[in-house]
Amino acid sequence: MEISLKNQVAIVTGASSGIGTGIAKSLAAAGATVIVNHSSEHSADEANEVLKEITDAGGTGIVYQCDVSSEEQVVGMFQEVISQFGTVDILINNAGVQKDAKFTEMTLDQWNTVININLTGQFLCAREAIKEFLRRGIDTSRSVACGKIIHISSVHEVIPWAGHANYAASKGAIRMLMQTLAQEYGADKIRVNSICPGAIQTPINKNAWSTPEAMNSLMKLVPYNRIGKPEDIGNLAVFLASDHADYISGASIFVDGAMTTFESFSTGG
Ligand code: NAD
Repeated sequence: MEISLKNQVAIVTGASSGIGTGIAKSLAAAGATVIVNHSSEHSADEANEVLKEITDAGGTGIVYQCDVSSEEQVVGMFQEVISQFGTVDILINNAGVQKDAKFTEMTLDQWNTVININLTGQFLCAREAIKEFLRRGIDTSRSVACGKIIHISSVHEVIPWAGHANYAASKGAIRMLMQTLAQEYGADKIRVNSICPGAIQTPINKNAWSTPEAMNSLMKLVPYNRIGKPEDIGNLAVFLASDHADYISGASIFVDGAMTTFESFSTGG
């Protein structure tokens, strides 16, 4: 099966690192023009490096700085992308952070930062994307769907996570956001899905894999017995964004080496 996203424009939020970089490279390799979003001046070099890897491999795209938790900046990003490329076909709502703390010690700032980026950021980007999909309508030279949104959620949309209440709450909420949008805009042929990664090797969870002891302990949670790579998520994102997935909407798809089978029950619980 050959998958092509040619003629399609994809915004990937938080594409300067980790899973977002993997998705951006995979979408570009499939022919999409990719907007490599990053949040601040600190991440500009990383974002430019991602774009260079994309263009060196024959792909196309631009770098765009925007904090997804800022309504003004998100609206500006969509306006700029639409004015440069005509429209947007695919939104990958990926940007996310962790601010971990024992619950009774969690500050309001830690709570708000995670909710603002992980949840409100996905709301703001999805809203602008859907407005643009509806304005453009279906153009079958691009895709049989009017538009595609992929939320990057987590296994923690179903696995509670002590010490990470803000993060788990943001991911649980993404499930309902995703399903509600799939329901509300299904008749408009807008497809909305979530990818729920398990343990993927990126900077966000470095302390879970950077020493042999940590990696051993992590593998006790992963029946498939390897850590995931950003391209494991990128491969699914390409398929989900393509017309091969045209009947998939409202789904949370877990890419987790069977983590959500709850390995601790493998010896009888
Ligand atoms: P990462 O830290 O490598 O990348 C996060 C990206 O988000 C970075 O590019 C960062 O600059 C960007 N970002 C942060 N705040 C932003 C903002 N305000 N505006 C725009 N961009 C912003 O982490 P990652 O592991 O690649 O995480 C990506 C997504 O995958 C997150 O939503 C995370 O919750 C989710 N996830 C990761 C794992 C994992 O094991 N790595 C597992 C499940 C879910």
